Amino acid sequence: MLTIKLPQIFRVHQVPRIFWEDGIMSGYRHPKSSALDCILSSFQMTNETVNIWTHFLPTWYFVWRFLALSSSLDFCQDAYHWPFLVYLLLVCLYPFTSSCAHTFSTMSPRARHICYFLDYGALSLYSLGCAFTYGAYAMPDAWVNSAFHHCFVPVAALNSFVCTTLSCYSRFLELEFPRLSKALRTTAFVYPFVYDNVPLFYRLLFCFGDDRAWTEAVAGYCYHLFFALLTGFLFASHLPERLAPGRFDYIGHSHQLFHICAVVGTHFQLEAVLADVCGRQAWLGARAPAPTFAHTFGTVGAAALGNGAIIAAFTAALLRVPAAAPLLQGSMPDGTQPKEQ
Ligand SMILES: [Zn+2]
Repeated sequence: MLTIKLPQIFRVHQVPRIFWEDGIMSGYRHPKSSALDCILSSFQMTNETVNIWTHFLPTWYFVWRFLALSSSLDFCQDAYHWPFLVYLLLVCLYPFTSSCAHTFSTMSPRARHICYFLDYGALSLYSLGCAFTYGAYAMPDAWVNSAFHHCFVPVAALNSFVCTTLSCYSRFLELEFPRLSKALRTTAFVYPFVYDNVPLFYRLLFCFGDDRAWTEAVAGYCYHLFFALLTGFLFASHLPERLAPGRFDYIGHSHQLFHICAVVGTHFQLEAVLADVCGRQAWLGARAPAPTFAHTFGTVGAAALGNGAIIAAFTAALLRVPAAAPLLQGSMPDGTQPKEQ
């Protein structure tokens, strides 16, 4: 009978410091796992298993939602739907990239950094996707065709470069300046969120009740904002594991809750945007300029290439860092190598 030996699991002090997570005492995978071990480890309980699945399964939910919508909305011919198409593709991309990053992040210290560079890049592109969809369908009536409306997506594309740069750079400070690193990374996630949501904040504060047709979308946006705030709180606070280190190693730690809140928030956002896409088509069609191929796919293509170049630059810088640097603590806290499995 074929037997598969599952990879060994370690306690926090058995792995190098670069792999430590706040308040997580056990369930660590080998810091030099093979790709096969990383894949196998997603089927055993480690402190990453729930992180992997809480983004892998929602990826397929969003892919299913995209395929279902593509049978009712004309994504090929109708330019009105192109920003929504871009948003849907990026909604599928970010949980998939995150799931892969969590799966393969224990192949080596360098691999861990590169995995999370890619994760941050996908998150920045998702923020750009939000700007595309809010710019096209969620702008308050009074702002349609304004200078802010015309600059909204190009500025969001620039934001994605700044935020990917900040979050990747924060990894270089993680061990020596942990507070600064956390502050930079949190800023890199919060700033584009706040920018993207300016039209929504305006609508929720000043337009609520103006137009009954918006009610369904507005309710969805409120749920989205609630889960987004919860996501940010969990990311920044490391609760509950900070209060009871070791209690939530496998189930219930903040990163798992952060993933769940992020995808639930995205679900509500998707449904709210869809309500606007359908409910405001005639109104927007008469007033807003139709999205062009160059503006939509040109911008997202340039943003993807630019973010890819930033990640490549950080990867090249990482490869030049000497193996003994704190950033690449491949050895154990006492200077020895992790024991082989
Ligand atoms: Zn994650």
